[in-house]
Amino acid sequence: MQIPLLKRIPWNRVNWTTSIFLAVINTLAVTAVPLFIWHFGLDWFQVGLFFFFFITTGLSITLGYHRLFSHLSFKAKAPVKLVTLVFGACAFENSALDWCCDHRKHHKHVDHDDDPYDITKGFMWAHIGWLLFKLGPEQPMDNVNDLKRDKLVMWQHRWCIPMAFAVGFGLPALLGFLWNGWVGALGAFLIAGVLRVFIVQHCTFFINSVCHTVGNQPYSSRCSARDSAFMALFTFGEGYHNYHHEFQHDYRNGVKRTNFDPTKWSIWILEKLGLVSDLRRVPDEKILLAEMNEARRRAALQLQEPEAITTVLGHQMHDMLTHLSERLAANYEALEKAMAEQVEISRQLIEHWRRETREFAEFLTDIDRRLLAAA
Ligand SMILES: [Zn+2]
Ligand SMILES: [Zn+2]
Repeated sequence: MQIPLLKRIPWNRVNWTTSIFLAVINTLAVTAVPLFIWHFGLDWFQVGLFFFFFITTGLSITLGYHRLFSHLSFKAKAPVKLVTLVFGACAFENSALDWCCDHRKHHKHVDHDDDPYDITKGFMWAHIGWLLFKLGPEQPMDNVNDLKRDKLVMWQHRWCIPMAFAVGFGLPALLGFLWNGWVGALGAFLIAGVLRVFIVQHCTFFINSVCHTVGNQPYSSRCSARDSAFMALFTFGEGYHNYHHEFQHDYRNGVKRTNFDPTKWSIWILEKLGLVSDLRRVPDEKILLAEMNEARRRAALQLQEPEAITTVLGHQMHDMLTHLSERLAANYEALEKAMAEQVEISRQLIEHWRRETREFAEFLTDIDRRLLAAA
């Protein structure tokens, strides 16, 4: 008897190497790791080693692979490149060259067929499916020519796999052995190696799945990307994915001062240490214009069906919505004009317009919620 699910799997398209690796890592993370902890317990050394490798590999992906190599959002000196390339390899997410090639395609073709982790093909496809199967023939790597000229990137591309095994698994096991013999080596391999790879990988995958499904779209609804402060907590600040898709060359993903974005803070500290330079920031006016535009679009959508608002929420609410959206339109036009004519706008006025826009966006969310509850 055939099992229907197994019959539906396109076996001829399975990417065996990646699939077997992921199957082993995921299986060990949920079986061998808890068994080890249950049997031998945890000590501060194992916990410390886990966090050291978690932070260095996680940050190497977000700061190195993503914001530096994929988006060129700042310039880095050789030591920063070297460290992020070596520890980035230890996340087992491929070489920086391959990673950036896929990621640049993701930004260029987001939500369409040529987007490697296209969310329109389903949550699980965007999360991990795209790594398990090859849908079409290999695409040429013609969007990373700048990186091909970087000797360190090409060196990492060549030695990525041995480097990942040696530094990502071998080094923690060796340190564990020095700490507590063979039990220490096994624990370090499982906790700072396997469990850490499992967590770093799924955190990266969540950006492609969760952050294209759940969250807000304050800057643009042109694509599925969303801001999620919750996801930012596990992804070194990469959860602010709506902002990132709208302004991909900004070194910040969490652009607000209060946003949790350790990658942004690390880049800022590296700048103070003289190790990175030329941090790219989108001007406040441009960001505000995007926020205003998105709020305007949402208001126009709601005003298309005035009966729904008037019937469910009353005349007063409808009049308020009309009044506030006219005010927003006037602010938007004034800002757009000032930017086109390159007239300097005071910080206070930018701050005032930003506050008004955000309050209006909250008001729109409240209307949406009430209409949904009444439906
Ligand atoms: Zn994305
Ligand atoms: Zn990106």
